Amino acid sequence: MAEQDAIFPTGLGVEEARAHIAAIAGARKLSTETVALSAASGRILATDVVAAFDVPGFANSAMDGFALRAADLPPVGEKCLALIGEVFAGGHAVAKVEKDTCVRITTGAALPEGADTVVMKENTRIENDRVIVVGGARLGANVRPAGEDYRAGETALTRGRRLGPAQLGVLASLGMTDVSVVRNPRAVLLTTGDELVAPGEHLGFGQIHDSNRYSLGGLLESLGVELLRHERVRDEPVALRDVLLRAAGDADLIVSSGGVSAGEADFLPLLVAEIGKVHFWKVRIKPGMPFLFGQIGHALLFALPGNPVSGFATCLTLMKPALHAMSAATDVSAPLRARLRNSIDKRHARAELQRARLECDAQAMLWATSHAKQGSGMLRGVAEADALIVLPEGERCFAAGELVDVLPLPGWPE
Ligand code: AMP
Ligand code: MG
Repeated sequence: MAEQDAIFPTGLGVEEARAHIAAIAGARKLSTETVALSAASGRILATDVVAAFDVPGFANSAMDGFALRAADLPPVGEKCLALIGEVFAGGHAVAKVEKDTCVRITTGAALPEGADTVVMKENTRIENDRVIVVGGARLGANVRPAGEDYRAGETALTRGRRLGPAQLGVLASLGMTDVSVVRNPRAVLLTTGDELVAPGEHLGFGQIHDSNRYSLGGLLESLGVELLRHERVRDEPVALRDVLLRAAGDADLIVSSGGVSAGEADFLPLLVAEIGKVHFWKVRIKPGMPFLFGQIGHALLFALPGNPVSGFATCLTLMKPALHAMSAATDVSAPLRARLRNSIDKRHARAELQRARLECDAQAMLWATSHAKQGSGMLRGVAEADALIVLPEGERCFAAGELVDVLPLPGWPE
């Protein structure tokens, strides 16, 4: 299809493309569901969580030691107190701490009545039923007051937050057994091309293994997408049409690879225009220029170029923001800034995403080193990289030492 014949926007800048995608995806908020805490890892919180009670719920000891009254101790020197009882975590103190007495206490045990301070065991000597405290103690030392972590009525977590291990721990400490989260987007992944065979199958002449099924499938999974199924499709308009319509029946997202460029076997742009809508085709980006964004029925279509690096890079830069918009995720990280170790001459004006290693020096400066393998067919460059360097549109030459944006790949830093 000649560009001048296109009946949809084409040749967008990266920011324009992202804004277009975010506007459409953001209008399709995913519904919410309640899941058990044990199944909530990585999910996006759908509602604010308010602490129903103080955490901790009672004043307790931060140390193994003795609960006492700070006023009974001199500022310096030793003081002898009568040991009148003990309290363990989870237990009750029977004795009340009164003048010149103390109660043995373990970490997490409720502070006995009358006590206001805990002296750690290491700062005491025990002689029969007496405790000699060495040195004074600040009032309230080693006591964790009720509500010091969360106060009843306080917002503990805000909606849009991704639930990692610490957030799940907070929900549990607030007594919650389940949590309202955004439903994961459901995707059908299509890899297209007559040359593709599954790993493990014999490679005939001109054939290659379908690596995108795994690289893109893994990337989708790391982005919290539920993969309904994968289908490998030949470059045949009838077969393509059939799988696209079927995918539109049950997916929120259709992610396809291949068949979206200008070759004789690239049927997707016309086909999508016929059975759905092309929001735009082609972005001024390298790699990934033929990227197409459309929809079929209610499903959004991200038609990625077949070259393994092009698909991977456009999935990260153009599709990931759509996922954030659909799930109203709030903890979305801004690109990092790094200095270039090497100079770069793009030799073109388009935006470019280069595969790079990252390292942090002793001055806390992040450095990005371009990988030698920058070809869009060479997955090795991605496999050995930590991030994509984002070289903006317009400027062609970048000097060593220049500051650039970098997009970390999933799993960095580890
Ligand atoms: P296309 O976008 O269909 O023109 O494909 C561009 C390049 O990517 C070609 O060299 C294809 O063989 C290759 N390619 C397409 N799909 C895949 C895939 N699923 N896995 C690995 N390489 C692919
Ligand atoms: Mg192809």
